[in-house]
Amino acid sequence: MNPLFSGLQTTVFEEMSGLARRHDAVNLGQGFPDSNGPDDVRAKAAEAILHGSNQYAPMLGSPALRAAVADHYRRFQGLALDPDAQIVVTAGATEGLAASILALVAPGDEVVLFQPMFDVYLPLVLQAGGVPRFVSLKPPEWRITEADLEAVFNEKTRLVVFNSPQNPAAVVYGEDQLTLLADFCRRFDVVALCDEVWEQILFDGRRHISLATLPGMAERCVKIGSGGKIFSLTGWKVGWVCAPPALAAVIAKAHQFIAFAVNPATQAALAYGLGKDDAYFDALKAGYQRSRDRLSDGLRDAGYAVLPSQGTYFLNIDLAASGVALDDRSFCLRAVKEAGVAAIPVSAFYAEAPVTAIVRLCHAKKDATLDAGIEALAKAKRLFG
Ligand code: PMP
Repeated sequence: MNPLFSGLQTTVFEEMSGLARRHDAVNLGQGFPDSNGPDDVRAKAAEAILHGSNQYAPMLGSPALRAAVADHYRRFQGLALDPDAQIVVTAGATEGLAASILALVAPGDEVVLFQPMFDVYLPLVLQAGGVPRFVSLKPPEWRITEADLEAVFNEKTRLVVFNSPQNPAAVVYGEDQLTLLADFCRRFDVVALCDEVWEQILFDGRRHISLATLPGMAERCVKIGSGGKIFSLTGWKVGWVCAPPALAAVIAKAHQFIAFAVNPATQAALAYGLGKDDAYFDALKAGYQRSRDRLSDGLRDAGYAVLPSQGTYFLNIDLAASGVALDDRSFCLRAVKEAGVAAIPVSAFYAEAPVTAIVRLCHAKKDATLDAGIEALAKAKRLFG
């Protein structure tokens, strides 16, 4: 067995969802909406299954979806992508990340990772033989500083993995932070793997800025997107990698031996969906902003210190600032059993020296689910506060 994988524990998302089922708790842990996604996009997939091809799709992804991804990013982010040479459709963003890291990292290469980090990155970097160099971000702003980057970038750095909007911090990095990171990437000739799956889930009028749009960055950015996130269809697991042609060609070779190709019906439906008018994307943001506000307001009323959520399906609470003297993991284990609500300890997103008082909650739920979650968290506050 490969000790890297045999030594890994089941993810905290599986663990908490399992406990939620066992204790019949409200699940605000794992990040998925409890709605079913847009009817018209699902109807396109159904129609494609019944009347379209159900055989292997092209290895790089269907031409229609690649063209739609390029159009979508031109329209919303000002990117110029050649759909034939710069886009690879993958089995979710997860496979896009795997193919990219395995294709771009060679043994001994140093890879910069920002903690807290999405759990997929580190095992893949290690499997590729990369040497992780961590930058630890601190609540409530989770800012990246020049001193942080000076401490980890050097001539052995080959890749930086950058996630904005950020899961779990729910922060959206603005132009000043992107400029700082871009300066280091250019200075040390580093490729940026930009996990931008939350690019359409933004609040309070924010606009997504892709790192690839900064000067000199298009040729060194590998951008990851997810159809599941843009259409509230997380179960579909269709994503894409957008990269300069030379990098896309190598990433496609890794993809060839991981998934090879992706379900044609969901690709057809997403190609249709990405072309929907602005009203859909505005309503998407407005809907999740409402759910963020409902959960934040309810938790503040229950006495919790709620950190700002600028995007994503998530918001965080600060236990110490809320007068709860438990660490995040103990809180989550007790809350699911004693108060009937599942949440995710943010310490699980650190490989070393974690912050231990922050708990992540998913607000992408129906009002009734949020209200039941708020009630259960109010009970937790009474029990542990
Ligand atoms: N990256 C980040 C930051 C995520 O939050 C997620 C999903 N939670 C993914 C990647 C994976 O996306 P997909 O389901 O399309 O594989």
